[in-house]
Amino acid sequence: MAGVFVMEPEEVQSLRKRSGLTTLQLLASLVPQAKSKARPPVSDYCVGAAGLGASGRIFFGVNLEFLGLPLSQSVHAEQFLVANAALHGESSITHIAVSTTPCGHCRQFFQEIRSAPEISILVTGDGYDAARAEPDPDAFRRIALFLPHRFAPCDLLQESVPLLLENRNNRLVLVSGDDDSSADRDLIDSALRAANRSHAPYSDCPSGLALRAKDGKVFAGSYIESAAHNPSLHAAQAALVAFVAGGGGGYEEIERAVLVEREGGMVAQEGVVRLVLGSVAPGCSFSVVHCRPQISVDGDGDALNHN
Ligand SMILES: [Zn+2]
Repeated sequence: MAGVFVMEPEEVQSLRKRSGLTTLQLLASLVPQAKSKARPPVSDYCVGAAGLGASGRIFFGVNLEFLGLPLSQSVHAEQFLVANAALHGESSITHIAVSTTPCGHCRQFFQEIRSAPEISILVTGDGYDAARAEPDPDAFRRIALFLPHRFAPCDLLQESVPLLLENRNNRLVLVSGDDDSSADRDLIDSALRAANRSHAPYSDCPSGLALRAKDGKVFAGSYIESAAHNPSLHAAQAALVAFVAGGGGGYEEIERAVLVEREGGMVAQEGVVRLVLGSVAPGCSFSVVHCRPQISVDGDGDALNHN
């Protein structure tokens, strides 16, 4: 898994041929590999997930726990996987193999994907041996069986609103005067792009957080909301997923962070980002840059739109 959390279709096909496994068996066989990348310092309970995208790519997810923070700040492997797929512009996920039965929180989080009821899940457990398993498509069960009588985006949103993994551009531009720091140019641009991809239809307060590591590498994550609110992945969680998925090492390597979020929005990420980064990367400095929806008649706004 050097690459580390995404496998391109060519690699998937080559591995499949070498191993003699079907794609779904291969997916299941990769779960232990994913699990070994988990970072759960509180529970020591590692969870790994592998998901097949419509593009033929395989995405991985692991659970993240953070020392010194409430358990509610943890990121579950399935959330990581979905955020990782979104990060890479995947349009849909068809199958997921995961080491442990998805919890209620994750069953709900999946609902932000329009095809959620049709996504098929295989719980591999610790003893699953893909090489010896029969090619049994029935071993995968649709999410609708895990979460019947679901509460879903369609309970709150119009059908035409794009859901997670669907094309979106929130058309945010920086508030004039808030983009002056040239030292942070790369971070501001990355955070604004992440904010423009952010799935926040319930608050209309999309945001993005960009992190710079000591080696200069930048990682940006987009805030992802859930119709049920609590399973939402806030901007710091999303950026830490991007950091881990992008091959980041220890969190202490993160030295600078820039959040782009709406000015005066009903929902704000600044406080929670300060809390989380203050705990996991105490040496990291942090700034907030505000944005607003682009006004089409505003020529200055057009000039500031970096998408
Ligand atoms: Zn979960």
